[in-house]
Amino acid sequence: MSQAPLHHQSVRALTTALRQRDVSATEVAQHFLARSQAHPELGAYLAIDEDATLAQAKAADMRLAAGTAGALEGLPLAHKDIFVTKDFPSTAASKMLAGYRSPFDATVVSKLADAGVVTLGKLSCDEFAMGSGNENTAVAPVGAEAAAPVRNPWDTSRVPGGSSGGSAAAIAAGLAPAATGTDTGGSIRQPAAFCGITGIKPTYGRISRHGMIAFASSLDQAGPMARSAEDCALLLSAMAGPDPERDSTSLSAPAEDFSLQLNQSLEGLRIGVPAEFFGDGIEADVRTAIDAALKEYEKLGAKLVPVALPRTELSIPVYYIIAPAEASSNLSRFDGVKFGHRAKEYADLQEMYTNTRTEGFGDEVKRRIMVGAYVLSHGYYDAYYLKALKIRRIIANDFQQAFKDCDVIAGPVAPSVAWKIGEKADDPVANYLADIFTLPASLAGLPGMSLPVGFGAGGMPVGLQLIGNYLQESKLLNVAHRFQQATDFHLQRPKGF
Ligand code: GLN
Repeated sequence: MSQAPLHHQSVRALTTALRQRDVSATEVAQHFLARSQAHPELGAYLAIDEDATLAQAKAADMRLAAGTAGALEGLPLAHKDIFVTKDFPSTAASKMLAGYRSPFDATVVSKLADAGVVTLGKLSCDEFAMGSGNENTAVAPVGAEAAAPVRNPWDTSRVPGGSSGGSAAAIAAGLAPAATGTDTGGSIRQPAAFCGITGIKPTYGRISRHGMIAFASSLDQAGPMARSAEDCALLLSAMAGPDPERDSTSLSAPAEDFSLQLNQSLEGLRIGVPAEFFGDGIEADVRTAIDAALKEYEKLGAKLVPVALPRTELSIPVYYIIAPAEASSNLSRFDGVKFGHRAKEYADLQEMYTNTRTEGFGDEVKRRIMVGAYVLSHGYYDAYYLKALKIRRIIANDFQQAFKDCDVIAGPVAPSVAWKIGEKADDPVANYLADIFTLPASLAGLPGMSLPVGFGAGGMPVGLQLIGNYLQESKLLNVAHRFQQATDFHLQRPKGF
């Protein structure tokens, strides 16, 4: 471990220092708890419980002393508040679940705990992971009286991205060395890009969805967020793997050690560059940073090859039909009967349902439930939902065509840098359009990642997106890691953090 403070250390450095007992899990946890509590202005945490965290740290210290430590023993990490946890409330940033306690841990949470991770708390997100700016949140963050958007530590007047905005902001500000996120249509990649950190959304099914509060089940996927690709590889190794009894859509591909292939040469690597990712929509500052990153890859030995993803634009209407359709079904479980919020006043059962859902859900969630119910309804099902499913298949086929000519695909994560809080708050469509570059890989179920490659307008970070073929997370992480060995964008931090 270098002389730098604990919150500037990588996951690799922290876990090594913990194993060598240069520092205890309790000291590390106390350091991050203190920092997290010292920065309530970011609104990153929805729940902190010092006693619960320190009890976990103490147990980790005992295992470190006994020589029974797991791969990540003592590493503090915070979870997006979409994963249910026994030791902390689980809210999905919704009034509907305010104060809710789960009787069990999500598979991701228990797998990371088995590897020795100490939970720092729960991180803010868009309500039920619906959003691109972490402005759709209905639960008060730690230290605040009322619900508040998460702020980007690079410029606190801007959004951190969403929906995993709390995760990205916490890492960028050094409030946690790593975090979990979920990505349905870009929610790991886009906040990682906006906050200058690294994140990977693995192949759909790589990580169990059990205990992840469901948004759109055919798209939802968990993943790690951290400063570097190397750190993400260490975390992903603990998170991935089949979970046949609890998530029947989890893949049977066994967990891997994703850090084993990080030092492969990029000589001869074919990077596919889709023209559709570099059209009118992309802002000049983002384009400049992405072009420079592609040049750097050429220096590292890679070859750029043009590929086509002709249905890129259609991914927006397709996603915004399929995701709300699934959401309208998934969210029907919140009816005031089994758990969560229940309206205080009602005359009969029907009114209890109506009042509960009217009070419990925020505007964006209601909008999606209505769109979803509409596209699934008799008479519109064929025109919208079924058609969207067909185009989704064509989009997946387009990628397979592109992968005949390249090993990975590269492009921007988002058309612009992080926008100002409030700028798009009243314009859902403007938010949806900003998802254009992350949606295609989500619809195809492909692994995608984001790594910081420069700065654009206002000194805000720009992220490069890398998309791989199914189960090629190791390759993606290697491609990102080689870039990070040659550059230092991932080591830069916002002023004051
Ligand atoms: N921004 C997209 C949406 O609002 C993606 C969200 C996500 O990936 N959870 O649906």
